[in-house]
Amino acid sequence: QQPWDAISFSDLPVREDLKLQRAYGAPQLDVPVRLNVNENPYPPSASLSTRIADAMWDVARNAHRYPDRDAMELRGSLAAYLTHDTGVTLDCSQVWAGNGSNEVLQQILQVFGGPGRTAFALTPGYPMYEEYCRTTFTRLHTLPRTGTFDVDLDLTIATIRALQPDVIFLTSPNNPTGTALSIGEIQAILDVTRGMVVVDEAYAEFRRRGVPSAVTLLPRNPRLIVSRTLSKAFKFAGGRVGYCACAPAVIDAIKLVRLPYHLSAFTQAAARVALASRDELLSQVGILKSERDETVSWLRGQGLEVPDSDANFVMFGRFENRHLVWAELLRNGVLIREAGPQGYLRVSIGTSAEMRAFRAALLAAIDCYP
Ligand code: PMP
Repeated sequence: QQPWDAISFSDLPVREDLKLQRAYGAPQLDVPVRLNVNENPYPPSASLSTRIADAMWDVARNAHRYPDRDAMELRGSLAAYLTHDTGVTLDCSQVWAGNGSNEVLQQILQVFGGPGRTAFALTPGYPMYEEYCRTTFTRLHTLPRTGTFDVDLDLTIATIRALQPDVIFLTSPNNPTGTALSIGEIQAILDVTRGMVVVDEAYAEFRRRGVPSAVTLLPRNPRLIVSRTLSKAFKFAGGRVGYCACAPAVIDAIKLVRLPYHLSAFTQAAARVALASRDELLSQVGILKSERDETVSWLRGQGLEVPDSDANFVMFGRFENRHLVWAELLRNGVLIREAGPQGYLRVSIGTSAEMRAFRAALLAAIDCYP
């Protein structure tokens, strides 16, 4: 046996605050129906896959060179898409891109958080905020949402006024609850803080009508950052591209912490091809939204508690032992997520066939564990 086979995690001089942590991530299991990480169930068309492969061939011929470290063309394409989606005219100087919005959000905390600084988030929320804070030694303050998973605006404003956090995370639509914030609520929070406000819009394209994007608030609010991703509506989770819109000065600040050439030439080129096929990539968003609305009604019809969803997933409960229900679904080939407060589960919206399988498996599970 070699020495490196004999050494275990506990023998390593790992940072004290990490020793008791577990690596974040949902189980990646090879089952017929995977509805656990809010992916888009529809693959790219054959013609788009071919266009991406052709672009990769071009990039490969120059793979001995580093990529454009500022990803200017990709940022231009992302700005054009946001302009189209929100009606706010943006250019590449107001959009930053990274390897998934996870990377962008972590960079934001590296710049604006840090030792002695604080961040604020509402719960239940996206668990990665805690991880960015831990990694950057930022103290995280959390405030629970109401019993119906809305935001108690007066309490939130009072808390933010008192704490004056350096970074405020607002997730709209929120993961795991699916609920969205109104533009008025976001502006009211912006009005009482001197810190940076990050509106995480990973699921923005799935909003119901009448919920405008926080991008519309950008021109008036220089401390606002709106983050988005190609992982969900754009069905490009495997491509790992996230981005944010903000004042150009915020991008100057982020450049202080980004790693050199953080976005590979392959990623930049593939994402540009994807964005050029925007209409094709987004063509199933409408189907997913109606499937989501049907899922919400169906779950409510079963007597379950289900918050309104503006995302491509639905949270539902409550179960006495959610783990048993989750495991029973898995036994029937349907993988969902134990996310949200105790007693709740979350299902990502799949194809109609996948949702039929989910409904049948859930009925069977409820039979076993009423
Ligand atoms: N924000 C929220 C609220 C999310 O749910 C996710 C993905 N689960 C992300 C950000 C990060 O997604 P990605 O890194 O794929 O862009």
